[in-house]
Amino acid sequence: MNLADNLEDLRARFEDALKNSAGASSLDAVRVAFLGRSGEVTAVRRSIGKLPPAERPAAGQRINEAVEQMERALNEAQANAQALEVGASLSQRIDVTFPSIKPQQGSIHPMKRVMHDVCAYFERHGFAVVVGPEIEPDYYNFDALNIPPDHPAREGFDSFFLTPNLLLRPHTSPMQIRTMQQHRPPVAVVVPGTCYRRDAVDARHLFQFNQCEGLLIDEGVHMGHLKGMLTGMCREIFGSEQQVRFRPSYFPFTEPSAEVDTTCPLCRGAGGECRMCGGSGWIELGGAGMVHPNVLRNVEYDPDVYSGWAFGFGVERMALVRYDVDDIRRFFENDHAFLEQLA
Ligand SMILES: [Zn+2]
Repeated sequence: MNLADNLEDLRARFEDALKNSAGASSLDAVRVAFLGRSGEVTAVRRSIGKLPPAERPAAGQRINEAVEQMERALNEAQANAQALEVGASLSQRIDVTFPSIKPQQGSIHPMKRVMHDVCAYFERHGFAVVVGPEIEPDYYNFDALNIPPDHPAREGFDSFFLTPNLLLRPHTSPMQIRTMQQHRPPVAVVVPGTCYRRDAVDARHLFQFNQCEGLLIDEGVHMGHLKGMLTGMCREIFGSEQQVRFRPSYFPFTEPSAEVDTTCPLCRGAGGECRMCGGSGWIELGGAGMVHPNVLRNVEYDPDVYSGWAFGFGVERMALVRYDVDDIRRFFENDHAFLEQLA
């Protein structure tokens, strides 16, 4: 076979192969078989060596032209094949009526939301929101709040001491003292914040927890104001049916003192076998009372002129009641599915 016949034969087989190939990957195989380093074209090129030297340039040119044509045909076929494959994948995969995947959206943590709502309620009633240090000296945590060093009530606070005189605050009440030191009456503040106690962690206790504290000092303030404000707050946070009950209690910094309960959200106060309230029908939110005259004296307020009330509620406890959750720890396990339910 001479070179012209060789090329003719090669081109015919190339065109057949092109026609019979389906898809981009089989076109790649055709390219390798014909134009690859050990492909058919290379074999034809080698045959040039057997030609008389004068014929070699012309033969080389014809082979080059043939290669160019084959490359063009291959590129065209490859572009067509790719377009077909894209079209096929689009028509199979896109269903514009199919519900889309919702992008994930963050939300405010339930604990923050309760704190925010408590503060918003008091702000609407003219209270200022103040925050303070989480590390406080003995004086602000205890002495100024009428709990001298030998007072048995200190035991109940079970605190984390950093030095003999500095501790992680076990309650937000130090801010009562700091606020009253800085302002003359009337004083009306609400204090949201994190507190720490050496409590064993269980369904109702954490060693790090949040409190919302309230303080009102003015002339003629009495327990009725306290009861009205706290009842209003509970109804706003938990629902308009909510009842609030004051049980006589004892705290060194208030006199008289009360523990404040609200209707159990699970049994609606019926009690019985209720797992949430243990059958009492009530959930304890925290302590409250009329500010002790000694506390007022410590900040140079005259207890014969001024009176006031204070309360401190556990935010986790309020969140349990609001969201009907039976274990405080669930709020802090970073369980996405759980938090999303409350979002
Ligand atoms: Zn109950």
